[in-house]
Amino acid sequence: MNAFENFKLSQQLLDSIRRLGYDEPTQIQKESIPPIMAGKDVIGESATGSGKTLAFGCGIIENTMPGKGLQSLVLTPTRELAEQVKNSLRQLSYNKPLRIITAYGGVAISPQIRELSRAEVLVATPGRLLDHLERRTVDISKVKILVLDEADRMLDMGFIDDVQKIIRACPANRQTMFFSATISSYIKELGNRYMRSPVQASAVKMVDPSKLKQVYYNISKDMKLSLLIQLLQQEKSELVMVFCNSRRTADFVTRNLKVNGVRAIAIHGGFSQNKRNKTMQMFNEAKVQVLVCTDVASRGLHIDNVTHVYNYEIPKDSNDYVHRIGRTARAGEKGKVINVLSEFDHDNFARILRDYRSFTIDMVQPPQLKRVMVVKQERQPYSGRQSDRPAYGRPTHRRPAMHPVQRRRR
Ligand code: ADP
Ligand code: MG
Repeated sequence: MNAFENFKLSQQLLDSIRRLGYDEPTQIQKESIPPIMAGKDVIGESATGSGKTLAFGCGIIENTMPGKGLQSLVLTPTRELAEQVKNSLRQLSYNKPLRIITAYGGVAISPQIRELSRAEVLVATPGRLLDHLERRTVDISKVKILVLDEADRMLDMGFIDDVQKIIRACPANRQTMFFSATISSYIKELGNRYMRSPVQASAVKMVDPSKLKQVYYNISKDMKLSLLIQLLQQEKSELVMVFCNSRRTADFVTRNLKVNGVRAIAIHGGFSQNKRNKTMQMFNEAKVQVLVCTDVASRGLHIDNVTHVYNYEIPKDSNDYVHRIGRTARAGEKGKVINVLSEFDHDNFARILRDYRSFTIDMVQPPQLKRVMVVKQERQPYSGRQSDRPAYGRPTHRRPAMHPVQRRRR
């Protein structure tokens, strides 16, 4: 029996899936198809290539009717992705005469206008869809299903205002889904604003807890650095990542590790892409053992042989903690997570313990510490915001200076 048959899908759709040669749903499909088919709002998180399109595609194909106007809308950050999603949806609707089209910038608008009047499913980039809405060349008053694909990337690319305008223009009585490789706290915030009790479906690989040791130290803020340096010198390690919550802290820590004789290198959103690539190369080749980083800058990086993850500060979002610790104990190797807490971190730490009850994080008494030299300030090497995150809860363009190509592509 085909394992997709457990999902209460129509025979038509099952036949299309069989035709594609899939017999076993992927993890994210197992987690998200049941709530999707039950009409719930869903926030789905899983790695690139894990089959998210088919997951939301099932909901769209089953619940969109031929000849009844535009009922399903998928937003994607790029036109390439829009094409890809359209093709996948067409394959899934092999047995159902649905008109599935794309609309994105960089191509003539009039052929789109003609198609738009007859389509039932639209896959669009936000900018071009807004154009159509303003020209009244698209009618989204009958949209029942709205999907944001690659939601995080869409926000990274500065589409947040456009996306919100579109969401608000859709009928309130709809099913909303966000899919992404990573779900930031910002996406959740958006979910709270525009979804109805969303179900979270996550297929992010958890590290093997028996291979991962997690500990924490509780110490006054002014001794954090001394403890970090002493532990870095004591613990036998290969590659080490030190996580900070802000660019400012990452710079501060890196500077002071160097001053105290620990070779370290920083990576965060304040550096050019070129510099970041070079930094990653040095770290990957183990030319520098210690990488100091922020959450955003380290997202999606694949690094082997990280034996230790230090949290110099505890992240506000407990999912970020899981992403951080997932950097070590990969592929059956052992790993250690060391949390360096001071008063300031207690709330965030409590949140992690509450959200992930299965974690065992042992307290360790700090060793006798020698206070290290601390250099407070250096001339700022860059200007602008200190944080790699958008201000919490405030919709803003994350990267207003968009690449001109991306602008044109909307
Ligand atoms: P994502 O959106 O998560 O990055 P995609 O939806 O683009 O991933 O799917 C990645 C690939 O996996 C596609 O080629 C897709 O056809 C294939 N795929 C999807 N579901 C299955 C499945 N259940 N079994 C095998 N392959 C699948
Ligand atoms: Mg995808």
